[in-house]
Amino acid sequence: MCAQTIFTEVIDGGAVDFQPSPVAGIGTITIKTGRKYARYAIAEIPTCFSGRAVRMTKSLADREIGEPGSYDVLVGRGGQDRRCECKGFLRWNHCKHEATLRALLTNGWLDMVPAMVDEIPLDLPTAEEVNQMAVAAGADADPFR
Ligand SMILES: [Zn+2]
Repeated sequence: MCAQTIFTEVIDGGAVDFQPSPVAGIGTITIKTGRKYARYAIAEIPTCFSGRAVRMTKSLADREIGEPGSYDVLVGRGGQDRRCECKGFLRWNHCKHEATLRALLTNGWLDMVPAMVDEIPLDLPTAEEVNQMAVAAGADADPFR
């Protein structure tokens, strides 16, 4: 087995490691600030804003009690608008998550993480159609219908 590639970039107050995954839609990052390391699974999510958004789901092992499990982070086209759901962003208008997303975009790393599929359109038959097919195939009609 070959060694996994890990990319590193400096962000405000620390650094971020990015590791692409062979599984579509998933990458992992480690945000390093001071002595704290926090690991997240990341996946791009659809956004109605002009820009790109990512859901960062924090590793259970790195979560503090009462902390949310994931943060949705947005960086607008050109990097001018930034949003994150975390308390740090609400207070300071910047945070390690949006700094991380900017690093992911600037380095082209996010394009190594194919967008998460929001909904897979399925064309499944209805229960009524299934019943009709069963009757056509010789089964008794459903006596409970
Ligand atoms: Zn944040």
